[in-house]
Amino acid sequence: MNRPATYTIRFEQVTRTAVRKGKCTICGKSGRRQTTIMHTVNPFNRNKITGEPKTYDEVRKSVWDEAMAWEAEPFAHPRCEREAREAGEQR
Ligand SMILES: [Zn+2]
Repeated sequence: MNRPATYTIRFEQVTRTAVRKGKCTICGKSGRRQTTIMHTVNPFNRNKITGEPKTYDEVRKSVWDEAMAWEAEPFAHPRCEREAREAGEQR
């Protein structure tokens, strides 16, 4: 991957698709859903411990960790979740 010779300031995006699949915890049917985790490398995205702006690798790790955490959650169809939530609110 070649980078342009001229230096341009841009906020580099780090994205990763996270996929959650399995049997729905509500209706029992299997399915899958996915989301895109996206962070940018920018001066305001700082490492909480050092206070320094995160490097590309640090941002990539944050995206990875967030995607893994999202995938680790039990799968439920968005529609089932909504219906369950609405049913709960009616009680
Ligand atoms: Zn379901």
